Amino acid sequence: MNDTHAAIEQAIEELREDALQLLQDLVRIPSLEGEERACQDLVAARYADLGLEIDYWTPNDEELAAHPAYVPTGFTYENRPNVVGTWHGTGGGRSLKLNGHVDVVPIGPPETWQYPPFGGELVDGRVYGRGAADMKGGCVVNWLCVAALQRAGLRLRGDVLLESVVDEEGGGNGTLAAVLRGYTADGCIFTEPTGLEEISVSNRGAQYFRITVNGQEGGTEYKHQLVNPIAVGMRIFEAVEDYSLMRESQVSHPLYKGIHDTLVPTGICKFHCGEWPSTIASQAVLEGTIECLPGEDIHAIKRDFRRYIEEVARRDPWLRENPPKMEWFGLWFDAAEIAPDHALVRCIQDAAEATIGTRPKPRGGGGCDLRLPVLYGDTPSVLYGPAGAMIHSTDEFIDLEEVLRCAKVIARVTLDWCGQAEG
Ligand SMILES: [Zn+2]
Repeated sequence: MNDTHAAIEQAIEELREDALQLLQDLVRIPSLEGEERACQDLVAARYADLGLEIDYWTPNDEELAAHPAYVPTGFTYENRPNVVGTWHGTGGGRSLKLNGHVDVVPIGPPETWQYPPFGGELVDGRVYGRGAADMKGGCVVNWLCVAALQRAGLRLRGDVLLESVVDEEGGGNGTLAAVLRGYTADGCIFTEPTGLEEISVSNRGAQYFRITVNGQEGGTEYKHQLVNPIAVGMRIFEAVEDYSLMRESQVSHPLYKGIHDTLVPTGICKFHCGEWPSTIASQAVLEGTIECLPGEDIHAIKRDFRRYIEEVARRDPWLRENPPKMEWFGLWFDAAEIAPDHALVRCIQDAAEATIGTRPKPRGGGGCDLRLPVLYGDTPSVLYGPAGAMIHSTDEFIDLEEVLRCAKVIARVTLDWCGQAEG
């Protein structure tokens, strides 16, 4: 380790208490979907403390809705600002964007939590609370990286952009808004909680669907003359299960070998039918998701799936006469990937090896915002950030030590990627 690297690591150690304070402050703001503003105000203030050029803006609903990558969430972005803080380099280096999202998913029943869900309590080195791991820990890493490089007295050649977005959990329109605002870079790291052993270099594509089937309404006493839409819906459910197995047998991708049970999650997870225990309903509504791997086109998969459901209906006497209604709705996204040996991936691998002694492996990821800068911002991107536990579950937490370890790696990546300025 040379003097520069030692100075960066020392600066991160010296900033330990500040990092903890920021993490607890962020977790203590319940930044659920639509309520991110107070968190973004705090982030903007901390970026301003670092002397960054601050851009604080409200994503434009109409502009977003007109973009092909827009996710029709039904939300407005009014009162949901994005923040970008730019640390300008002296010129001649590569730029790097560090992305974090401040929105969090709901807490579920509060009585199931051992620690207050928005308490930010520190217990045995772990900070507990909704969003601690996904991904306020990562937001702290992004801040800490610039804070430590500055504290070590360094100037960089390339620009560093700290990008704090809303609505990641809703599907990514916050990151899309940042891309539309022109925030592209030579590389982007989403400090999502991948853990430090793996670098996520892709995301799967996905689309939610809804299938409505008809039955014959009437009292249970006539059940043998009527068609119960539950039974019809079950046939659709089984058919989708078969489709899922068929897809599994057809697809493969080196980045997705052996990491999950399923390569392309596909299935129905919501089934709604009936309003009265003794009345057969007129319809059943089924909702589910289909996904695809990088290299596949989600739009082509959608067409294939629709044809399949139409074929299933043609072979079913009731469905042939009463065709199911099929709709796409809500969450969808493209698949995307970058080369697993991309310079940004190697830069992170080298920095991690030198800093924490492990060489993280590139792997395939699920749904995330990676696709947006890759496909629409010409910005090679990865996910690499501090692991936590119980993500989206009860008693979510992150280890402060993991946040500091990650910041040491990312600070070194930033120095190597952007280049140290002379003098
Ligand atoms: Zn996340």
